[in-house]
Formats: sequence, C-alpha cells, structure tokens
Amino acid sequence: MTLQNKLNFSGGPGALPEKVLVQLSEEIINVPGPGLSILGISHRSEWFAEVIAELENNIRTLMGLSDAYHVLLLQGGATQQFSMVPMTLLRGQNSPAEYLHTGYWSGKAIPEARLEGPVRVIWSGSENNFNRLPSDDELCFSPDAPYIHYISNETVEGLQFQRILGRNDVPRICDMSSDFLSKPCEFERFSLIYAHAQKNIGPAGITVIVIRNDLIEHTTGNLPGFLDYKTQIKAHSNFNTPPVFAIYAVLLVSRWLINDIGGLENMAAINNRKAELLYRVIDESDGFYRGRAAADRSLMNVVFKLSSAELEAGFLSRAQAAGFSGLAGHRAIGGLRASIYNAVTLEAVEELAGFMDEFRRRSKP
Ligand code: PLP
Repeated sequence: MTLQNKLNFSGGPGALPEKVLVQLSEEIINVPGPGLSILGISHRSEWFAEVIAELENNIRTLMGLSDAYHVLLLQGGATQQFSMVPMTLLRGQNSPAEYLHTGYWSGKAIPEARLEGPVRVIWSGSENNFNRLPSDDELCFSPDAPYIHYISNETVEGLQFQRILGRNDVPRICDMSSDFLSKPCEFERFSLIYAHAQKNIGPAGITVIVIRNDLIEHTTGNLPGFLDYKTQIKAHSNFNTPPVFAIYAVLLVSRWLINDIGGLENMAAINNRKAELLYRVIDESDGFYRGRAAADRSLMNVVFKLSSAELEAGFLSRAQAAGFSGLAGHRAIGGLRASIYNAVTLEAVEELAGFMDEFRRRSKP
C-alpha cells in the first residue's frame, strides 16, 4: 500500500498542487537568488519583503480588492480569528453581534465571541442536526449589530452558502477557511474575511485576513500587539517572526492559481465538475451512499456515510490499499468525507468516483 499525494482527500491540511510540492522540495535545499534553504531565510531579508509584497498583490488580484482593504498574513489559525474579531469589535458594546450557528466550526466561534461581549445567535441548525443552511426567510438581521459573523463553508458537515448574507449597513465578517479562493465572490461586500491556508492555498501556519480600513479606523483596543490588527498592518505582517516557509508556499499556490489555473472563474469551473462527479455517484447509488446534507451541499467537502460502521471501515481500508487517503469523516461526526479543495485534480476525483462505483458493485449482496 502506497498512499499518493494526488489522491489526498483530507479535510485539512489538504493537498497542494504537484508543481508547488516539487518546487518546495527543491527549495528546502536552495532558493535561487538568496542561495539558502527556504527554512533558513531571514524574515527581515529583502527577499522575504518581496515575497510578502507579491503575495499580497496576488491575493488582491485574485479577489479584485481595492485599496480600501488591507491584506494580512497572521499566525494562530482561524481559531485565533474567532477571538481577534470580537476582541476588536465587540468589547464594550451593548448591542449584540449576530452569529449564525450552522455547524461544528461556527459552534466553536460563538463561545469565543461570548467571552468578549454580547452575542445573539440568529439561527441555529442544531435542531435539524446541521443538515441544511437557513433560507433568507428564516433570517432577520438587526441594523444595530456591531457586525454579523458566519462561516461560508462548514467543513465538517459539508454545507456551503452560495449567497452572501446580511445587511449592507452592518459589517459582514466571514470565515472562509474551507472555500477561500475556490470560486469568484463579491469579496468587497465583506468588511473582514479570514481564511487559514491549510485547505485551499497552502500548508498550516498562516491565515489570510482581508480587512476594510473603516472597520478598524475607530477601534481603540488596548490589545496585545500580536492580537491587534492595526499593529499587524503597520508591521506588514512581520510584527514577530512569521512562518517564512508557509508564507512562501502560499505565494507559490497563488502564482499557480493565477498563471496555471487562470483565476477564480476557471478554478470554480473545475471545482464544480469535481463536486458534480461525486454527488452523482452518491445520488445514483440507490441509497448505498447516503449524502449527509439535505440541501446546500458543499462543493468542497462531500460528506456521506454507508449503512454500517463495518461497511465504512471496509471502504476506508480498500481505499487506503488503492492509494487514497483522508476519506474518514471528521472525528466529531464520523462517516466519510471527500474534501476536494483546489489542488485536488479532476483526474483524482474521477479516480475516486470510479473507486466508489466499484466498491458499491462489489459490496452488493
Ligand atoms: N473554521 C473552519 C471553517 C475550519 O474548517 C476550521 C478547521 O478546519 C477552523 C475554523 C479552525 O481552524 P484552525 O485549526 O486554523 O484554527
């Protein structure tokens, strides 16, 4: 049994483009230019300042961002943003921030926000076991909220919004960790977007934050420098030693997205075809594969199960023997999950679809 990078369907850290892996493996030894290992280049070098500047510019290009936005590259993962957002915007407020509880990860964000100030959960999917997202009729946003917060793609349950929520007069804040740069979006309708790298754009260690000037203009904070957006902006994401390797890897992925894929429209077309293939296998399996979501199925995380835990164990062990990895569901809910982030190729998904068909045929009594 040899696992293959190209057949990595992990929920995260996810696969990286083959081309990026090859370049990184060479540059672990020697980055042309500085002539040093990528693991030993100073974060204060001119070379690294250029890396940050190019990456910021690539993110701006891909997202179509104007100068009204700052782009930050911070540590601490998306979890740190669960706290940094309310520390900055909710402390001392009387009106509650509005949060949507749509699955496992939004369920982690809400208690962190409550530590900082008042929170109102305006919709929760807990009663329906998080098998769908709310319709517009079920949502009522207040004009007085300091901000609204939601997660565009619930990685564990496999639910994804295909629309933007909220009101135009209240700042929208979105955790896009598991569908960031997977499709075009009107990004400028958000005041703050955060997304860790380890799903669609790189290895763990770095989180991209896109933040509108006016959101933090009047915040006074008294926050530790590391947790203060303003300090981080002033320091150009180089307040303390940043993860040089992870940031460089994200730069290479951003070049791949722009030059090899041709931007987010093209990426979305590929991602749509990948998801269609897997959902078709599930829908045409006569109930052998059972999709978890009743609606709002994610194009990034295809979550499903089989009729018994034994059958699922058999699926995972056959899949592993065939070179696939990362197909077990999240530990919180079990079952199976195929995460088909940007770097998972259409060919790899075709192979998985073929494997799933074959497994079903062989398992039929
Ligand atoms: N938000 C989403 C949507 C996630 O999928 C995850 C983890 O997978 C997190 C937040 C937590 O991210 P981190 O481990 O970077 O803190």
